[in-house]
Amino acid sequence: MLIDEFYRIGADAIHEHDFNRSFTVTSVVPSWSGPVVQWKPIKGKRPPGDPEFDRLRPAAILDALVRTLAHRWVHGRPLCPLDWKERLTSGMPQLFPFEPEVGNGWVWLIAAAANHLSVVDTCNDMRTHDLKQKYGTLRWDIASMEFYQQVDEYTSCVDRLSGYICEDCGDPGAIQSLNGWDRCVCSRHAVPSIR
Ligand SMILES: [Zn+2]
Repeated sequence: MLIDEFYRIGADAIHEHDFNRSFTVTSVVPSWSGPVVQWKPIKGKRPPGDPEFDRLRPAAILDALVRTLAHRWVHGRPLCPLDWKERLTSGMPQLFPFEPEVGNGWVWLIAAAANHLSVVDTCNDMRTHDLKQKYGTLRWDIASMEFYQQVDEYTSCVDRLSGYICEDCGDPGAIQSLNGWDRCVCSRHAVPSIR
């Protein structure tokens, strides 16, 4: 399940087809923060060019996914704690001055990013300005004087991954439009098309 999620979400997020990937999983290593997927590029295969988001490195996107899935599978079968938004705001009040207005399926994406950024942020100067869903993906705007570049790249990777992770449950998903509203959902949470 974990490896399948890494392949499916990872290939989609760097705009590759699953049958023609430029990366492969070599192992899964246990750690205190959850099972860590180890991956490497496949020799001779390059990730495709990405005209829309050229500045994002495929390796940075995949590494953000590794952290997300480690957090998601840390206790075995993923279960979303219903009070996760309260935990974020009470545990990291500087980074989260308000509760995120997003679905429970993105808890691991946001919490793993928060843990990572809190290690980067040695000055404790990061503060979320905006964290919401828009057009089906996460929009996370963090202000940081000291670590602007790291924050910008990481939140851009997280925003990208959110377009391939179900906002309701965290399974691999895709953006679906219903009556003008876009949401990223898995096949279980997809709403049947209305004709
Ligand atoms: Zn779902």
